[in-house]
Amino acid sequence: MQPIRTFNVSSSLPEQLEPLRKLAYNLHWDWNVETKDLFRRLDRDLWESSRHNPVLMLGTISQDRLQEVAEDEGFLAHMERAARQLDEYLTERNWYRKHRGHTEQKECYAYFSAEFGLAECLPIYSGGLGILAGDHLKSASDLGLPLVGVGLLYQEGYFSQYLNPDGWQQERYPINDFYNMPLHLERDANGEELRIAVDYPGRQVFARIWRVQVGTVPLYMLDTNIEPNNRYDHDITDQLYGGDIDMRMHQEIMLGIGGVRMLKALGLQPTAYHMNEGHAAFLALERIRDYMQEGLSYHEAQQVVAASNVFTTHTPVPAGFDLFTPDKIMHFVGHYANTFGLPAEEFLALGRENPRDAQAPFNMATLAIKMASFVNGVAKLHGLVSRVLFQNLWPSLPVNEVPVSSITNGVHARSCVAKFTQELYDRYLGPSWQATPADNSLWERVDTIPDDELWRNHERCRSELVVFVRERLQKYLRERGASPVEVAEAQEVLDPGVLTIGFARRFATYKRGTLFLRDIERIKRILLDLHAERFKGGVLVGQKKRMVQFVIAGKAHPKDTPGKEVIREIIHSIREQGLGRHIVFIPNYDINVARMMVSGCDVWLNTPRRPREASGTSGMKASMNGLLNLSILDGWWDEADYVRTGWPIGHGEVYDDPEYQDTVEANALYDLLEQEVVPLFYDRDEEGLPRRWVAKMKDAIRLNCPHFNTARMVGEYAMRAYFPASDRYRDMTADSYAAAKTLAGWKTNLFKHWSDIKIEDIDIAEPADLQVNQTIPVKVRLNLAGLTPDDLQVELYQGSVDANGEIVNGMPVVMNFQGKENSSLSVYTGNITYTSSGLQGVSLRVLPHHPHLSSPYEPRVVLWA
Ligand SMILES: *Cc1c(COP(=O)(O)O)cnc(C)c1O
Repeated sequence: MQPIRTFNVSSSLPEQLEPLRKLAYNLHWDWNVETKDLFRRLDRDLWESSRHNPVLMLGTISQDRLQEVAEDEGFLAHMERAARQLDEYLTERNWYRKHRGHTEQKECYAYFSAEFGLAECLPIYSGGLGILAGDHLKSASDLGLPLVGVGLLYQEGYFSQYLNPDGWQQERYPINDFYNMPLHLERDANGEELRIAVDYPGRQVFARIWRVQVGTVPLYMLDTNIEPNNRYDHDITDQLYGGDIDMRMHQEIMLGIGGVRMLKALGLQPTAYHMNEGHAAFLALERIRDYMQEGLSYHEAQQVVAASNVFTTHTPVPAGFDLFTPDKIMHFVGHYANTFGLPAEEFLALGRENPRDAQAPFNMATLAIKMASFVNGVAKLHGLVSRVLFQNLWPSLPVNEVPVSSITNGVHARSCVAKFTQELYDRYLGPSWQATPADNSLWERVDTIPDDELWRNHERCRSELVVFVRERLQKYLRERGASPVEVAEAQEVLDPGVLTIGFARRFATYKRGTLFLRDIERIKRILLDLHAERFKGGVLVGQKKRMVQFVIAGKAHPKDTPGKEVIREIIHSIREQGLGRHIVFIPNYDINVARMMVSGCDVWLNTPRRPREASGTSGMKASMNGLLNLSILDGWWDEADYVRTGWPIGHGEVYDDPEYQDTVEANALYDLLEQEVVPLFYDRDEEGLPRRWVAKMKDAIRLNCPHFNTARMVGEYAMRAYFPASDRYRDMTADSYAAAKTLAGWKTNLFKHWSDIKIEDIDIAEPADLQVNQTIPVKVRLNLAGLTPDDLQVELYQGSVDANGEIVNGMPVVMNFQGKENSSLSVYTGNITYTSSGLQGVSLRVLPHHPHLSSPYEPRVVLWA
């Protein structure tokens, strides 16, 4: 039955409780212990059944209960405290003010992402990328950055997972009821829904705008599920990563192009644009179009756009990039080629590594790189891998100089530390750890926490996890119609006193979810402590059995059949081996399950195939709670202190044979468990404390927390990407875009003459017996063709020569222009010195130079001798 009319009925709160509304609509409650407690206190069952959704709670709670708390002084005082904390929070964000210094211009950084993982009750994320984006917004708010998020609001949440009796993953797509979520519908001055329109082949698609308030940071999301869009277009914002490649194209157009239009409709003027992954790269096209409407040429507009765009890549494999066929690109966004005045091949070249390769698909990451002036990977190792992946965009640069840097991911501290542990940190580190978690000295104080207090607190977290798992499993089994026996058995799973290993992540095959099961007899011995040498004459040596248990969770992408096989294999192994009490799979991994697991386990296991894990963040969350990581050297763990804060599995070697690699690494994992992890955990003193384990927990907290958090990460994005991009934006747009026009003209001239530059001769005054630290003068003569010395940077490139005759890790030395020898020859001099002995070499190169260039690599040309 279609309604003839719909109403948005808001909840009716007694006047004294009005602050609850404001509290419910700002996601600050998600990481503020006091406010979360308040909502839990309001109605515990409703809090759980609403999936921690205070808005839905206020809409469905009984009027009786509201009346009751309205007269409860304890509750009212609690509410006042929470409301005061929110007010203080909203006014006291000053990292930005302090670090940005004075800017006359009002800044705005727009952060585009296809998914955002903010809270359990907003299921618009699938995994790591979304959680990272959510944490980015939370920390941007903590730091007081003028940042706004841009995304799509999916009508169907990312799927809920359940398993059929065979262990095969099934998906259910819950429908998001936006009116009962912490969302505001944006309206214009007349109270009408604010709308934007985006061009698609043969039609326009309309979208309205929802906002979720993340502290001080608004996240604006587009929703196409409105009239007069046709059925297909209604579904553009239906499912995250749902549908086929055409739907993907529709979504990316809405995110990138729609996102830019939305910001304009909201009256915002971003000074920097951040593309979190390539999904949003179409934003560059729309931005260029906008500037062209203001009278700039395509090339001029492109200067402004690239100067103020930032791109973060998240994948370490070529298969991770979004690719579209040339005909799809021309069909859907080809009208931009007309607007830009570019021939089709030139337009398509924007998404191609090799502009002359007419067969190559259009790569969104390539487009993003060509339209950005700052590009980064998400961990040091991932930066290295990305420089190799994108090397062909700078074919004449040594790979170590490819301008793709890295900013290592982090996690939002207050969103992942368990409540009791937060209180412990408040007591011993002081409450400032909440606001400034990137401060090293603060975490030093973790040593002042008494061992027994840290340990008892952790044991409490483990017990809570065990209770949580049992309850969740029982509820789930009842819903699936399991037998009473099965339901009763779920009450017996796990032991709150046993070493607990957590493994939770997306079940993609490269994560190797079954690696720990590779030698089933051996893992069984470890789980059940069946090691023969621990029994003498049938009697256990030592007081207690040293058992181990696993808690596992994670979803496979609905179309990832091999990923689903991994889950099924785990379920089958558990069943066949009768290990149901010792290995538990919790269905429907989400933010809440993750929080319970990263605080209640003892060890966090990760076994990706290096270097497939770009960063990984769940291990960071675990560290924040004092867990020890046990992981392959990949992603963030490769750059952490993996000896003191956990254990590395292997040494980062990569074998040609994956089967062999799996065997080697599974054995390394078993060895570590048997020889190090288990003995350390069960080594207790008279008070029952594992002192050496607790010392390692403290190392994990002290060494990992200050660095692997999003306060540090967003601070780094601000200093290295947003501030410079905003400065360049200001430079490029000042005086009616004077700099953009100059730069575009200068580049045209540069490319015209570049191939005519000639290195006429190189004069190296090489002494007979060259010694370390000796200066060698070099003089070169160049024909600069139609260019001037100001347009170029001439560099000597010195370094040691490897067995292949290549200079490795060369160091550039800028040469000085000495004058002109005649009308066509320019003379440059410079000195090289070698600080180490052996076979050394020198080369010569010419790079473009202009004060408005973001870097000499921007024009992507280098001339070598
Ligand atoms: C942290 C988190 C992730 C990301 O974990 P990885 O270690 O990057 O795989 C995924 N899903 C949820 C629910 C999380 O909380």
